[in-house]
Amino acid sequence: MEDKDKPETKAVSLGRMSDEHFGVVNTPVYRASTILYPDLAALKANKQPYTYGRRGTPTTRSFEAAINALEGAARTVTVPSGLNANAVAILSVCGAGDHLLMVDSAYEPTKTFCETTLKRFGVETTYYAPTEDVAPLLKPNTKAVFCESPGSLTFEVQDIPAIAKAAHAKNVSVLMDNTWATPVFFQPLKHGVDLSIQAATKYVGGHADVMLGYVSANDSHAAQLHETHGNLGLYASGDDCFLALRGLRTLPVRLARHQETGLALARWLAARPEVARVLHPALESDPGHALWKRDFSGACGLFGLVLKPAPEAAVAAFVDGLQHFGIGYSWGGFESLIVPAHIRRSTGTFAAEGPVLRLHAGLEDAGDLIADLEKGLARLKEKI
Ligand SMILES: *Cc1c(COP(=O)(O)O)cnc(C)c1O
Repeated sequence: MEDKDKPETKAVSLGRMSDEHFGVVNTPVYRASTILYPDLAALKANKQPYTYGRRGTPTTRSFEAAINALEGAARTVTVPSGLNANAVAILSVCGAGDHLLMVDSAYEPTKTFCETTLKRFGVETTYYAPTEDVAPLLKPNTKAVFCESPGSLTFEVQDIPAIAKAAHAKNVSVLMDNTWATPVFFQPLKHGVDLSIQAATKYVGGHADVMLGYVSANDSHAAQLHETHGNLGLYASGDDCFLALRGLRTLPVRLARHQETGLALARWLAARPEVARVLHPALESDPGHALWKRDFSGACGLFGLVLKPAPEAAVAAFVDGLQHFGIGYSWGGFESLIVPAHIRRSTGTFAAEGPVLRLHAGLEDAGDLIADLEKGLARLKEKI
């Protein structure tokens, strides 16, 4: 595997350890707490690749090695969920008396973590608008700028290289939740981010059957990330890492299809009279399109839909009758989903014309999905 290889090629070969496992293609699931040492001298030297289950097994290391290569990272730690990945990344850079600058379009539970648990440990969080210049907002005690691009629910694209430049000029760390693009479409560390965060629950797992997160660090942040992860006793099971690694093999192929179908749906919806606007950075009309095009190599299947004003009963008639779109949280699996978006903003930077919905374009046929949406919008119109 070489760095110039395309993501499809990398995803197939990364992290494989067949020669250590009798030629078996996939690294098997290791379930381990105790790992035995041959003698006291080995125990004292503490140089075995595997020392204790919590510190990793060949299954976790296979996954982390693959992710390191995809992210261009010095070190990756695997954790039980995407939310936990955000928390451990923040905890590895912030302490009592510090200030964290958090993007207002971040995943809601990440904001809640900052406003409750993190606050209790003496870290102050303030919010910035996704497209705001962060330089004037940095305080003497600012330790980190947290980014998520495109943002959760509203999909604003951030100028990550500009944010990284402003932050690094003041010795401030840059953290980014990159779940939307995955390392296939955007590599945060190559754009100046110090800690790249992923809810592997979504596209990496890809089959709606695993909860997992990871954080990938550059050289300067690897040691503190590793230390924090270890001290908190965080551990992801071999079964879950196995599933995530299995998902990773087809990640670029699935994403290509999610992208194509997502864009087909977005374009079709944007032309409908019931729709105020579609929030999708790969649409030429989107305010974030130029930045997205400059920095990202693709778009996933998740986007937003702002309807023209409509009563709740009309939205329910639209959503409840859909055949191919499930109603539920999470996304990134093979199936299409739709969910109302509840947007909470401190910076007042998002105003919707009507009800906002979040759609995930799954791996079904795009024509079937559009026919389903068309019938749904007819039901909506009847109730307006
Ligand atoms: C879902 C999600 C998370 C949290 O992931 P979980 O595995 O559900 O904890 C974090 N960030 C973003 C952007 C997400 O969409």
